[in-house]
Parts: sequence; C-alpha cells; structure tokens
Amino acid sequence: MAEPLLNVAGVTLQYKTPEHLVTATYRVDFQVFPSDRFVLLGPSGCGKSSLLKSVGGFLKPVEGEIRLSGSEVERPGPDRMMVFQEFDQLPPWKTVKENVMFPLTASGKLGRREAEERARAYIAKVGLERFADVHPHMLSGGMKQRVAIARALAMEPAILLMDEPFAALDALTRRKMQEELLYLWEEARFTVLFVTHSIEEAIIVGSRILVMSPHPGRVKAELDADAFDHRAVGGEAFQRLQTRIHNMLFADRVESHG
Ligand code: ADP
Ligand code: MG
Repeated sequence: MAEPLLNVAGVTLQYKTPEHLVTATYRVDFQVFPSDRFVLLGPSGCGKSSLLKSVGGFLKPVEGEIRLSGSEVERPGPDRMMVFQEFDQLPPWKTVKENVMFPLTASGKLGRREAEERARAYIAKVGLERFADVHPHMLSGGMKQRVAIARALAMEPAILLMDEPFAALDALTRRKMQEELLYLWEEARFTVLFVTHSIEEAIIVGSRILVMSPHPGRVKAELDADAFDHRAVGGEAFQRLQTRIHNMLFADRVESHG
C-alpha cells in the first residue's frame, strides 16, 4: 500500500481551561492518501474542528502524533490551507484578487506578478472573474466561500482543510457549492480533509468517511463512499448509505442518554 499523505495516529486532544481539562478527542487514528476526499463526520462537540486544528498545526496532541508526508506536524504551514464556515474569513479591506494573492506573497511562495497571475487563474476557476476587483462586502455568502476556496487552492497545498465550509449557506447554495467543489476536484484531484455534521454532505463530498462518536470523539467506523455517484443524490444507494450512517450515529445517542 502507498504511504499515507497524512497519518493521524492515536491522537488525543485536550483543552486546559483554569477550571477544566476538556478531552476533545481520544486516540483517533486515520490515514489520508493523495487525492482522497476524506470526511470527518460526527455530532457537534465530537472534536472535528479540534482535529482539523491539530492537522493545521494549531493544537498539539497530548498523546499520539500527526505526520504529513512523513514529517511530524509541529506548527502551521503553507502546505495546509484552511477554509472555515464563517463568511468573515476574508479581510474586508482587500479586493477579491488581493485576498487570493495574499497568502502567495506573504508566504514568499510567489512574487507579486506571478501571484497576480495565479490569483486570476483560481478566481476564474471558481467563476468570479467579474468580481476580481470588488471587496468582499459586495458578495453573497456563497461567493465569499468561493473566494476562500480559491485563496486556499491557489497555494496548491499538500492538503486542503475545510471546516463546515458550507454550513452557513442556504440549502440550494450549499448543494451548488458541494457540486462545484467536486468539479474543482475532478479537474485538479487535490487532497481534502472535510469536516461536516451533515450525513448527506458527507456522502456527497466524501470518497472516505470517518464516522466519529460523541464527546470525547473516537473513531466509530470508516466507510468507503467512493463508489457512490454524487449525481445520484437522493437515489436508492444514497438512501441506504444515509440510513446506515444515521443508525450508527443514532445508536450513540441512545447509549449516551441512557
Ligand atoms: P466539533 O467541531 O466536532 O463540534 P470541537 O472540536 O469544536 O467539536 O470541540 C470538541 C470539544 O472541545 C467540545 O467539548 C468543545 O466544547 C471543546 N473545546 C473546543 N474548543 C475549546 C477551547 N478553546 N477551550 C476549551 N474547550 C474547547
Ligand atoms: Mg466544529
């Protein structure tokens, strides 16, 4: 078997507050391979964002380790770009183009001229050519998320980290964005680690789905969803998988509420 791009091994994450020690995840294992669309799925509070933060290099495991291309993750880096749920992740004083250029120039990856060229190419990929010179407040939520995706992809990171990127969008825009992400992926085959609490979204977006149990998050199951054709949303195969995952997650609830 090929080497994993990302190896998360026995990762326990904790937060220390003055009053409490919160265990967010307990000994979580998973491996992401190049071009995976790997989804972390679980109820609110099960530690999905914490795992993403630790892969991002913002939260150090108290137990276990995280390796990217064989090297231990110790700090944030331009090889791991993050897209968040919030629409305010774009500095409002920069235009769309400046927003997309910023990580490229700030990281020293490209000079201004090449960064501008790269930014234009990625802005076009997400269909926002006509908005390159406007400021984010002129854009809808979906368009802002497209800019955030273009900004992250323009860095051509080893892995794209997405934390419920479509959760604040209305249902139709959300579906549209899921499809757009898949089309972008079909073109570039990037590796993405995608967090969601929506079963439907996990099945649509994911090629592999890690189902997590509630707080503290542990691995419940790992499912292969690659055979699923995302254009068949709502069909029989889709519903079967949805029901199966639902039952897995629901079993937890029954246990934890006695
Ligand atoms: P999810 O993204 O799956 O909803 P999180 O990773 O945000 O879950 O949170 C996992 C657990 O860690 C929750 O119990 C949450 O309250 C706790 N937690 C998250 N961030 C912090 C923090 N900064 N300080 C203390 N506890 C936190
Ligand atoms: Mg979260």
